[in-house]
Amino acid sequence: MGTNYKPETICIQSGWTPKKGEPRVLPIYQSTTFKYENSDQMGRLFDLEDTGYFYTRLQNPTNDAVAAKITALEGGIAGMLTSSGQAANYYAIFNICEAGDHFICSNSIYGGTFNLFGTTMKKQGISCTFINPDASDEEIEAAFLPNTKAVFAETISNPSLVVLDIERFAEIAHRHGVPLIIDNTFATPINCRPFEWGADIVTHSTTKYMDGHAMSVGGAIIDSGNFDWMAHKEKFPGLTMPDESYHGIVYAEKFGKTAFIMKATAQLMRDLGSIQSPQNAFLLNVGLETLHLRVPRHCENAQKVAEYLEGHEKVAWVNYAGLKSNKYYSLAKKYMPGGTCGVISFGLKGGRDVSVNFMDRLKLAAIVTHVADARTCVLHPASHTHRQMTDEQLTEAGIAPDLIRFSVGIEHAGDIIADLEQALAAV
Ligand SMILES: *Cc1c(COP(=O)(O)O)cnc(C)c1O
Repeated sequence: MGTNYKPETICIQSGWTPKKGEPRVLPIYQSTTFKYENSDQMGRLFDLEDTGYFYTRLQNPTNDAVAAKITALEGGIAGMLTSSGQAANYYAIFNICEAGDHFICSNSIYGGTFNLFGTTMKKQGISCTFINPDASDEEIEAAFLPNTKAVFAETISNPSLVVLDIERFAEIAHRHGVPLIIDNTFATPINCRPFEWGADIVTHSTTKYMDGHAMSVGGAIIDSGNFDWMAHKEKFPGLTMPDESYHGIVYAEKFGKTAFIMKATAQLMRDLGSIQSPQNAFLLNVGLETLHLRVPRHCENAQKVAEYLEGHEKVAWVNYAGLKSNKYYSLAKKYMPGGTCGVISFGLKGGRDVSVNFMDRLKLAAIVTHVADARTCVLHPASHTHRQMTDEQLTEAGIAPDLIRFSVGIEHAGDIIADLEQALAAV
């Protein structure tokens, strides 16, 4: 439903379309199992010959309705929910890479993803080369190997706030016959739809703006349907060759444009089981209904806070792509003309210790391991989320040791600024 609707309408109306006498509001299908009339009906589902629900580890109607809404928001063709953003990124890569394969990733990404790709997946035999997203085409192309299967980056990186030149990355990936996977968590489809710029697959940590209220951890994978797996048959045997664990199905042949999500569901979700609970999907859907109202407010507030900080004598630097002084201002204007996100990073004069002292004095902004929700919150990546990284890795990832990640909420901007002011006055 609703390919022609605007995002505001999709947020409210898409996904769940009740028929006669059905609940107006998306119900929580709190059931692990689904009933059939006879054994053959169920058998056909297991053979992927029929569509239908049989076990919630694979698919659940509540989850599917919410995935359909996010798919519509992104302008994709198929989508699925996962238990977390971590699971979404893991599945997105593991769906096309196996032991012996390689992929390329921006070095400015979320710390959890950095560990997953750089350490854990390496133990599974999948290697990753991290590249600077601002490197020249030649430098990035030099990272491609014969076994490279994908390129991965974030629209706006968490927490370094690098804005990706998506179009350029899509062109590079496609020149080498591989898909571009974009983690669109910070921008959300309200601010940027990476498929319009050539990205092939989008992932989300729905834990952030999509849920928006810091209530449930979740993730999503959306496919544009644009990448032609069969045109690169040798590169992607998992999609283009028979799956022995599924009676020899060839996903790309049987499912065409929806092959990527079908495989990730039928094979990866079946075997790894990182499903989102229908209860969480229901809460996520409530969050999505106001995404189009909240995201612009986050951006408006963040712009005011960034401008305030930039003018403050105790502030050493501010990083926010909405500031004219920012390195990524013009890229942000191109890809996110309506605003980037509510997250700002900055450092205080005097360095790391002053930054930590300042954070402890904030009253409204809470110190929490979270970002991108309705309540203003703050975090020091070097002491918290990115603790495992060496100073060298931190610097490479664009995270100064004094960097404060400030996630601007949707309270009154004046109250947020007043809180900053009293804490700044005290350090
Ligand atoms: C938080 C985050 C993740 C991980 O998501 P979880 O839901 O916490 O597992 C991945 N990518 C980005 C950009 C994030 O901000």
